[in-house]
Amino acid sequence: MIVWMRRDHTEDQLAEVLRRIEEGGCRADVSKGTERTVVGLIGDTKRVDENRFLELPWVERAVRISRPYKLVSREYHPRTRRIEIGSCVLGDGSVTIMAGPCSVEGIEQLLPLAEATRAAGGQILRGGAYKPRTSPYSFQGLGREGLRCLAEARERTGMPIVTEATGAHHHLGPDGAREEETVLDQVIAQTDILQIGARNMKAYGFLEEVALRTRERELPILLKRGEAATLEEFLLAAEYLVHNGNPNVILCLRGHRGGESGRFLRYTPDLGAIPVLKTESNLPVVFDPSHATGDRRYVRSVALAAVAAGADGLLIETHLDPERAWTDGQECVTPDTLREIVEEARKIETIRSPELLGPTSG
Ligand code: PEP
Ligand code: MN
Repeated sequence: MIVWMRRDHTEDQLAEVLRRIEEGGCRADVSKGTERTVVGLIGDTKRVDENRFLELPWVERAVRISRPYKLVSREYHPRTRRIEIGSCVLGDGSVTIMAGPCSVEGIEQLLPLAEATRAAGGQILRGGAYKPRTSPYSFQGLGREGLRCLAEARERTGMPIVTEATGAHHHLGPDGAREEETVLDQVIAQTDILQIGARNMKAYGFLEEVALRTRERELPILLKRGEAATLEEFLLAAEYLVHNGNPNVILCLRGHRGGESGRFLRYTPDLGAIPVLKTESNLPVVFDPSHATGDRRYVRSVALAAVAAGADGLLIETHLDPERAWTDGQECVTPDTLREIVEEARKIETIRSPELLGPTSG
């Protein structure tokens, strides 16, 4: 339920509304805009009667939100959330380019690649230090050393970084030694955007832990859609993060398990989900054409289609020598291809109609 206060309400009148919300066993989420104060009721609102608010002369409207996800819905907050990361803004109608290797392979790989990615138009550097792998025998990421490389690349290029926290456990290195600090602690300490991977989208305990640990700083979180998750489940996972105190959530589509077996495409690019999420939700939407296709030949077309459909950003895997990449080389593009994608994406960006993006400012 949302309660709209009248324009000229006093603090005492607001306090009375908050008191009645608590009395109904719910929590209040107050948002004071330039023109209006709007109060959202969080919790089980089934037994709360809207007349308890409508009877107050300083309340203009009280309306039930029909969606199971409330805080992330446009019904609740009509304007897209703006998330600032360094000099980039997600959710202002522009397209933010995040690019870099699937995994960090060492400083000799990362530094020249980060420079080339930036020169090609990349704005935020991606790279996995901790890798969720299908097989436990596969390379699991450089761990702490990978994070150190990302931090050095950020210092040298000025690019903010996005990297995944695979859990709140202690990473096991190739020599069998466990890292002293947890993966989550280390990633929170280093990163500018914390990535939650597709495999963890439904790990609700982890989502809660991430939100609680990052809410003070409101560290941006890039949440990837689970490979078999419905869009409602995806939005509810995002709701967990916002509900637990961190509103800076970026939705990332990365393909899902559909009709394609994996012979031609790794996943089914979920491009149709972009306008759905832009309509239903107030969060910025990023598209990852690399994992969605699993094939560098198709990354460009799908990336551009995502921009045309209204994506707020792209997450693209790049490598200077894709054939030799330690992970996901088949879907990595070179910085030269990235440059072409960015050039075309910038053209499409200028002709996108504002209705595609939903209300943005504010
Ligand atoms: C990644 O972006 O590095 C990754 C592992 O992606 P996903 O969680 O979408 O598989
Ligand atoms: Mn990858």
